[in-house]
Amino acid sequence: MLPELSDCILDHIAIAVKSIDVSEKFYKDLGLTFAPEREIVEEQKVKTAFANIDVNAHIELLEPTDPESTIQKFIDTKGEGIHHICFKVKDVVAKTNELTAKGYRFIYPAPRLGAGGCMVNFMHPKSTGGVLIELSQRPE
Ligand code: ZN
Repeated sequence: MLPELSDCILDHIAIAVKSIDVSEKFYKDLGLTFAPEREIVEEQKVKTAFANIDVNAHIELLEPTDPESTIQKFIDTKGEGIHHICFKVKDVVAKTNELTAKGYRFIYPAPRLGAGGCMVNFMHPKSTGGVLIELSQRPE
């Protein structure tokens, strides 16, 4: 039996793609349904498409809108694929402090405002075994 849900549950899996229009076909064939809107996140120079996986989690396709986008640089060096995994936490400031005290490295010294009004921070892949981990706290 699975243990009770903790203070850290899957929120989304973000996948770097060259083209949402091309890549969404596979996920649609798999049976997922995408929200019709495409959100452009100017600050990160990406276009996003969302498809729910379950009541908590979604798949997020990230397509670069600019050669200087970190997603474009990721695709240039590693190719298309999983970019990061995001966990939802109750208090991202407390979680950042707790994990920093345990020796884990974060991309930002303190959480920042992310898409949808969430406060987010990213754990450096060098301290997580090679996976970029996003921690996100929903707005109240
Ligand atoms: Zn994310």
